[in-house]
Amino acid sequence: MKTITIMGSTGSIGTQALDVVRNNREELKVAGLGAGKNIKLLEKQAREFLPSYVCVEDEKDAEALRTALADTGIKVGSGKEGLNCLAQMEESELFLSAIVGMKGILPTIAAINAGKDIALANKETLVTAGHIIMLLAAKKNVRIIPVDSEHSAIYQCLQGVRKKDDGRYPLKRIWLTASGGPFRGMSKKELENVTVKDALKHPNWSMGTKVTIDSASMVNKGLEVMEARWLFDVAVDDITVLVQPQSIIHSMTEFDDGAVIAQLGPPDMRMPIQYALLDGKRERSICEPLDFTRISGIEFANPDNDTFKGLPLALYAAKTGGSMPTVFNAANEAAVRLFVREKITFLKIYDIIETAMNSHKLIKDPSLEDILASEQEIYKEIESRN
Ligand code: NDP
Repeated sequence: MKTITIMGSTGSIGTQALDVVRNNREELKVAGLGAGKNIKLLEKQAREFLPSYVCVEDEKDAEALRTALADTGIKVGSGKEGLNCLAQMEESELFLSAIVGMKGILPTIAAINAGKDIALANKETLVTAGHIIMLLAAKKNVRIIPVDSEHSAIYQCLQGVRKKDDGRYPLKRIWLTASGGPFRGMSKKELENVTVKDALKHPNWSMGTKVTIDSASMVNKGLEVMEARWLFDVAVDDITVLVQPQSIIHSMTEFDDGAVIAQLGPPDMRMPIQYALLDGKRERSICEPLDFTRISGIEFANPDNDTFKGLPLALYAAKTGGSMPTVFNAANEAAVRLFVREKITFLKIYDIIETAMNSHKLIKDPSLEDILASEQEIYKEIESRN
């Protein structure tokens, strides 16, 4: 029996992770749950899974939840302190990091410091602080297990591959696949008038708001390149993004001998989540299997980097390194918030990111404090200008 904690249990990844727990009751036990504002759902989850601790963003909500859960004996915390307690829970072995944005960094670091293995959905953590997180995880002998479908695919493709004498995989290239999102094939002119509702209509995946908008702008794929670079210790130039509109191939690894291994599956996040939580056990199906007799084809295309500038801007940030990925990510987070509130148009997301990156004074080897300070600076600047 493995005991886990879930940070972001009321979100898309969190609720699907709890489906995985339902599917594997004799293997997985929930020790703690953390959420933002959806206390109704959190209360329901707490009653079903009976963790010993839950936490929410605001103390006022925590008070209400304490009253609602008074008969259960479940402890309730709030804010940063609450997430910190969740991350370090004594009885937990694995911490699923599934909140959105850079606020995932500190709790993830707390969990690593407490020696918990990390199932990582929150890609922003590695994008901005990969150099700190990967070193710390190695020092604490903690595993970072990817949850993102592409990274899970790469991780799966590497299982059983013999490493070279220098301890590295003989990886020539990672083929990182992308669906292309709901706007694939559209021109800049056509993108001028797209709405939030349009951006949220992802053709294959059902995900939270932020990651769905990021998929539409191809920013998500850029963030994933940076995530892959840290997870698999490869150069940015050795990661090639390939549009694969059906989302059947979740990514591929090409080795020095020319062999290519791909991981295929239905577009259902519960599969990579289950793989991460069960440490690679493949005994129980969680989603509809792929039926190849009903698939008419698997197409490949290069991304349209002239129209969808999210990817080239991310590649520039990744290659520049230092604090630039933080600027890219924070500017995107702020821009997406404005787009969702209908304060800016879709294409303005790219302008905001580009302006922030152009005016940034690079910090070559940013500390955690530098990263968090740059984040706040960028948020403030963008909010004040728009
Ligand atoms: P959602 O928006 O669906 O969920 C976010 C979760 O974080 C919710 O449970 C929310 O709580 C919680 N949360 C927000 N703020 C806080 C806070 N201050 N303290 C505690 N909890 C908080 O996001 P997703 O599940 O879509 O995405 C999560 C992460 O996983 C992102 O980094 C995303 O890029 C990544 N990812 C997601 C995929 C997907 O399929 N959804 C696929 C691959 C990666 P509440 O709702 O109660 O406010």
